[in-house]
Amino acid sequence: MDRYKKVKIYKTFLFLTILGTTSGQFAKGASFPTDDDVPMVTGEVERREDDQELQFKYHDHEEITRYLRAVSARYPALTALYSIGKSVQGRDLWVMVVSASPYEHMIGKPDVKYVANIHGNEAVGRELLLHLIQYLVTSYDTDSYIKWLLDNTRIHLMPSMNPDGFLISREGQCDTIHGRHNARRYDLNRNFPDFFKANTKQPQPETDAVKEWISKIQFVVSGSLHGGALVASYPFDNTPSARICRSSVLCSVFQSYAHTPSIAPDDDVFRHLALVYSNNHAKMSRGVSCKSGSQRFDNGITNGAAWYPLTGGMQDYNYLWHGCMEITLEISCCKYPPAHELPKYWQDNKQSLIKYLAEAHRGAHGFVMDENGNPVERASVRVKGRDVTYHTTKYGEFWRILLPGTYRLEVSGEGYLPQEVEFFVIDSHPTLLNVTLHSAKGHVQTRGDAPKRAKLTTSTTAAPRDLNLTIAFPED
Ligand SMILES: [Zn+2]
Repeated sequence: MDRYKKVKIYKTFLFLTILGTTSGQFAKGASFPTDDDVPMVTGEVERREDDQELQFKYHDHEEITRYLRAVSARYPALTALYSIGKSVQGRDLWVMVVSASPYEHMIGKPDVKYVANIHGNEAVGRELLLHLIQYLVTSYDTDSYIKWLLDNTRIHLMPSMNPDGFLISREGQCDTIHGRHNARRYDLNRNFPDFFKANTKQPQPETDAVKEWISKIQFVVSGSLHGGALVASYPFDNTPSARICRSSVLCSVFQSYAHTPSIAPDDDVFRHLALVYSNNHAKMSRGVSCKSGSQRFDNGITNGAAWYPLTGGMQDYNYLWHGCMEITLEISCCKYPPAHELPKYWQDNKQSLIKYLAEAHRGAHGFVMDENGNPVERASVRVKGRDVTYHTTKYGEFWRILLPGTYRLEVSGEGYLPQEVEFFVIDSHPTLLNVTLHSAKGHVQTRGDAPKRAKLTTSTTAAPRDLNLTIAFPED
């Protein structure tokens, strides 16, 4: 496919605590209601919604809002509802957290996310995330795997990043671009800062909200749900050769590179993640083309740039700016298929949606601490041979999804002596890796000083600390 085919929180304020883990800027952003301040939801409408099963139909923005509020009222111990901002036309960009700890980050345990409907006319993912919410909350007590997942992961689900575009989209339209863009006609998946090429597009409110959100929470893995093809596409979406495309002549040269993969430092991991989705999907891994003449994908996966390069995409941004491994999931050949087909899409994707998120528990994770056992925030964490730097959170946490093997971790922080530690990753469970950084003060490093070897331990040292700031959520 080418690129185009291809809680009214009731009458009270809802107070929100910030879950900031990455950047130290906790003044605004991703916000969570505290346990104490969630108002009782007793409205008649919500009670009615609450009593009925989630239907297989397309839900408009108001219906989604009612549904999410009803779920948060019915499952207060497993869910929290928050808005990361508003669309151009003022619709809330809702996120529902599903977890055994919905209101607080679990220190040492990963946060993960799905974002759907960034293209307003690609509607299946929007409904699948509602069904995923329903499935997770109703399975917690009966399904030991779901219980384990929710006990050890915070799952943030955004059914629509582009509610304004969805509003003007039409059920049954498979291939048009009507509704793809936001209300100012910007393609939100071309609206992020780009590593390979300056993105001159004016940042949109929906994109700004997402940027702020993912700067506040260290998401470990993420999926962006799209429609119009059936494939799991992984970074990079853009390519260094895009930089030379400044004139028509150069652009024609560029076109000759257009189907060349743009290989990320973690290519092996991204391919694996894409395969987890594809192989757990009912048919994606067969790589059957959507219609005769359209592209087919071996094993149902592709490098983004090998399919077609694009500038300003969300997945490259997640990875390069925030160390979040995001892939793009094209889950329906038809962008906005008839509602009666939704049960099939849910069945096809259910296992993939769950198994993919669990990949956050693969590889190595741990804490970077100073000599006194205090967390070192924004320490640089690099796996030798992989030219990408991750940063620790305010709790000193880091996660590095890796396939089985032996690796070296290079850890450095301002004012500390750099450390290197060798570690191995196995398939069956993650490696816990705690690194102590020693102050550079008083230590004159001479040439030939070997980096200190860090200890490989299997103990968790961080004591949970409560989250900080409280802000008010505007009444609506
Ligand atoms: Zn799309």
